[in-house]
Amino acid sequence: MAIAFRRSGDQDMSFGKKAYAMLAMALACAAPATACAWSAGGHAYIALHSARSAGSASPRELCLRMYGANAVDLFNTTFTREGRALAAVLHDRKSARANLAPLSRARTDDERAFALGFATHNEAWGTDATAHVAGVVAGRREGYVIAKAQLLAAEIGPAVEPLLAARGIRLEPAQLLEVCHQFVELAVDLLLVEADPEVGPWMVQSALCPTADVRRLLVESLGPVLAPVAGDRARAEALVVAAEADFRQSLFLNGLALMQPDAAHQLAVATGRLAEGYLGLPEGAGAALAPLIELGIGKARALCEPDALAEVRTTVDVVDARLAARRLGQPPNSLLAARARR
Ligand SMILES: [Zn+2]
Repeated sequence: MAIAFRRSGDQDMSFGKKAYAMLAMALACAAPATACAWSAGGHAYIALHSARSAGSASPRELCLRMYGANAVDLFNTTFTREGRALAAVLHDRKSARANLAPLSRARTDDERAFALGFATHNEAWGTDATAHVAGVVAGRREGYVIAKAQLLAAEIGPAVEPLLAARGIRLEPAQLLEVCHQFVELAVDLLLVEADPEVGPWMVQSALCPTADVRRLLVESLGPVLAPVAGDRARAEALVVAAEADFRQSLFLNGLALMQPDAAHQLAVATGRLAEGYLGLPEGAGAALAPLIELGIGKARALCEPDALAEVRTTVDVVDARLAARRLGQPPNSLLAARARR
C-alpha cells in the first residue's frame, strides 16, 4: 500500500496508553482486514520491471501500468469497517475477479496499460500471492513477508513484551506479527529503491499520469464489484472517487519520501502519522513513535537484505508467466504495432 499522509480522529485515551495500544493494534497496516502484502515501492518495482521485460513499453504505458498496480490498495488506509470490507474484496485469496474487472472494460492503450497493472496485483495468483501465500525464494509455505515478519517478531518480541507489560498492556502474538509485517514491507521498499533508484521518481510520476478516462474506468469497473459492500453501485462509485483522490496524493508523497537520503526516517514519520488517523491520536503524537518505528524497520531490513531483491525479481517472472498463461499479458496496441513492424 502507499503510506497514507492523511489524518483524522477524535481523542479519548491518554497518549501513553494510545501509543502502546497502537503498537498492540499493529500500527498502520493492521487496520485493513487484509494486511498489506508488498508496499507501494514493491508494487512499483514489480510493475516497472515487468513492463520492461515485456519489451519496449512506452513511458506512458509504464506509468499507467504502475498506477494500476498500486491502485488495488485504494482502500487499505480507509480506517472504517466498510473500508476494510472494500479492501478485502480487492484482496480475495480465492479469486482475482475484482482485480480483473477494469481489464474487461478497457478499450484504449491507456486504459489497458492501467488495467493490466491492476490485474497483476491480486492475492489469488498475482503479486500479493508471493508475499502472503507462497514465497518463491523465501517463505515458500506462508509467503515472503509473513515469513520475515515471523522471524522479526521472534527477534524483537522478547524486548518489546516487558516494555508493554510495564504499562499494563499485553501484546498478543498475532498483534506483534502485524507490527512486524508492516516493518518488513517498509524495509523491502527501502532495499528496492536502493537497487533501482528509478522506482521513487516513477512512483511520483504514476500518481500524476492517470487521465480522467483511466480514473473513470476504475470507478465504473469497481462499481459493480464493490456494490454488495457499499449498498449499491452509485455509492460504491462515489467511495472509489473519494478514495482515489487521497490515494494518488499518498502515492505521490510515498514516492517522494523514497527518493530522500533519509527515506527510512521519512517512512517512519509517515507511518506514525498514519497511526494517528487509525487510532485518533492527537495530531503530532505519531511523531513520538517514529524512532521506535525506524528501529523496527532497521531490524526488518537486516532480515530482508539477503533475499528481498531476489524474491521480488522472481515475483516479476512468476506473475508475468501467470499473466501469459491466462492470456492476460497482452501488451497495449502501440506495443503490438511496434512489434509487428519489426
Ligand atoms: Zn494489496
